[in-house]
Order: sequence, then C-alpha cells, then structure tokens
Amino acid sequence: MKVNLLDFDLPGLIGWCEGLGEKKFRATQLFRWMHHRGVSEFDQMTDLARGFRDKLHQLAEVRALPVVHRQDSADGTIKWLFDVGDGNAVETVFIPEDDRATLCVSSQAGCAVGCRFCSTGHQGFSRNLSSAEILAQLWFVEHTLRREFTRNERIISNVVMMGMGEPLQNYNALVPALTVMLNDHAYGLSRRRVTVSTSGVVPMIDRLSQDCPVALAVSLHAPTDVLRDSLVPLNRKYPIAELLDACRRYLPTAPRDFITFEYCMLDGVNDQPEHAQALVALLRPPGGAHVPCKLNLIPFNPFPASGLKRSPDATVQAFARVLLKAGLVTTVRKTRGDDIDAACGQLAGDILDRTDVQRRVARQRTIELVRAPHF
Ligand code: SAH
Ligand code: SF4
Repeated sequence: MKVNLLDFDLPGLIGWCEGLGEKKFRATQLFRWMHHRGVSEFDQMTDLARGFRDKLHQLAEVRALPVVHRQDSADGTIKWLFDVGDGNAVETVFIPEDDRATLCVSSQAGCAVGCRFCSTGHQGFSRNLSSAEILAQLWFVEHTLRREFTRNERIISNVVMMGMGEPLQNYNALVPALTVMLNDHAYGLSRRRVTVSTSGVVPMIDRLSQDCPVALAVSLHAPTDVLRDSLVPLNRKYPIAELLDACRRYLPTAPRDFITFEYCMLDGVNDQPEHAQALVALLRPPGGAHVPCKLNLIPFNPFPASGLKRSPDATVQAFARVLLKAGLVTTVRKTRGDDIDAACGQLAGDILDRTDVQRRVARQRTIELVRAPHF
C-alpha cells in the first residue's frame, strides 16, 4: 500500500523526502500544499519538480477518509461519519460560534474506558486511529468548508479532542497529529486553542506536558473516588488525588494557566448540593494546594442504554451557584447539534467491539444499583 502523507508531521515528512534524495525545503513545500491549500493531487503541486512528483505518484498518496454520511443541524453544527474500515466508523463535529469555529475530533474507533454515561464507552473498543486518520478529519473539514463557504482563509480556529475515544490511550498517534495542527505551514492553531480532553491517564498527562503541551481538559464528573470509580472506571487505576497532582504538574508548561474540569450532570447521581460542596472541598481545600481550574458543567445527553437522566436545569444552576460562591469559575456548556445527535457523548459511530466493554459496563451498572446511594 502507498504511504499516506497525512501520517507525517513536518520532521517526519522531511526525513521521508530526504530518503528519496529530496531537499528539506521540498518537503516543506509539499507539506504546505497538503495542509495549507488542501491539495491532494500531486499534479496540481506546480512548484514541485516533475521528477519529485513522479516519485510521489509511485510511492505515496494523500488518503482522505471516506464519508459515510453528513448531517447538518439547524444551528449550523455539522456532523460527519467517516469510514475507517473493517465495519468501524468515527464521527467529527464542526461547531460554529460567533467568535470561533471548533472541530471536535475523534481519536479512537470506540473507547476502552467504558464510562457509564457515554455512548461511545457503551459501544466498546475496536482500535486506535492512526495519526493520518486523526488529522484527516481536520484536513477534510477545513478544506471542504473553505470550498463551500468560498473562503480562502482559515475556518477552523479551535480543535477539541472530545470526539470518540480516549486520546491519551492513543498517545503515539495523537502527538504527531497535534504537532501538525500547531505547525504554521499547516493549520497554525495556537496551543491555547487545541484542547486534549482526558478521563485521566496520569502518566500520559505528564508526557504530554513535555512533548506537546496544549490546553488540557480533564473529565472529572465526581468529587469522590467511590462515585468516580462507578462513573469513570479508569479512576480505579488513577484515583482523584493522583489525577489532581498530574494536573498541578501540567500547569507550568501548559499554554493556559488553568485546567478545565468537565463535569457531566447526571440526575440524582452526582448533581446534589453535597456533591457540589465536596467538589469545592476537593478543589479549594482550606490551607491545601489548589489546582487553578475552571469548571465546565455538561448537561448529560441521554441515550437509552445508559439508564441515566439529565439533571433538571434548576439543579444545574443551583450546583453552579455553590461553585461560583466558593470562587470557582464555572460555566454550563450549551448543547449544540442535538437534533443530529452531535452533542457530547452522543457520538456513537459504528464500532466492531473487540473488547468486553459492553458486558463490563452492564455488570458495573448492576453493582452500582446494589451499592447506591453514593454518599
Ligand atoms: N475520552 C475523553 C474525550 C472524549 S469524551 C474524555 O473522556 O474526556 C468528551 C467529553 O464528553 C467528556 O468530558 C465526556 O465526559 C463527555 N461526555 C461523554 N458522554 C456524555 C454524555 N452522554 N453527555 C454529556 N457529556 C458526555
Ligand atoms: Fe471514553 Fe471519554 Fe466516553 Fe469515557 S467519556 S468512555 S473516556 S470517550
């Protein structure tokens, strides 16, 4: 099979081109044609020498992901389902706002973490995406929309790794893809506008701080280990205290001076006043070490298999008030694209489950029903 040039970050492409006897600046030109201009046909890369283009024809291609389908929401949100082979499909969501346009990108076909409130988690795990498959989502959407909107300037200003999958469980493919997003010869996104969201893979948070520090969002969802264990199974491996320590270590190299904590509001499970108080005690311990942070409350987007319900608006507001009163910057996430199932946690794609996640999640729910209440 031909080499997919979307798999390379710039140093990787330079190395590959040098292996063909081509100079470094030729690789940069090729990189710019692909990412800056969205060109995939080598014949259109007019300033590359014919000999180089012939070699590219023989050995390489810019291989995009086939689109299974696209849905446009009434609010401007657009969702694509991409085929990644073997019966797997992943989703990507474009979210336009007044002052920015965000692309929500998937990192895995499925997810092995198996959070109780997440439809991707319920689907199980098939495989990691390659760097090319991660980047192809941005490449395709950016250049497709430039053509559709007849705009010759950048459309996507922010990327959030909040689609399907746990990005820090696909670290080796993630980092080159992030590097390309940040590169000025490609998408030139600022580190502050690229966010990795994680359920808390502690060692990889440390590695990311060294290899490619971008904005970090941590899916917290609970103030105690007992409750978090039941919602985010990875907590049993990396409990809250270790996770907060990793957040503190991340901040010195981070492009922002705070961590975003995501908290999915689940009716009667983690949304009561005592949970809010416990969260304040955790994040603002009297006399203890604070984690500079912002809280993002996400109204749960229900799906039938979860057996969970969205917290009523009044409960979310009351919860937010407790946090705000304690000095924690708190926002409630607007739900976008819910008429096309593009909201957080509704991305289901189509996954050929190669793990036992579906059975594990069902078993965990049975244990929790017996163990409740959580406080
Ligand atoms: N695996 C990573 C990133 C993908 S999930 C992570 O867990 O952080 C992106 C965000 O969507 C996470 O904060 C996750 O907790 C949230 N989410 C998942 N399912 C949801 C649902 N059904 N409703 C609302 N938010 C959900
Ligand atoms: Fe995986 Fe994130 Fe969904 Fe949890 S919330 S199952 S980590 S994608």
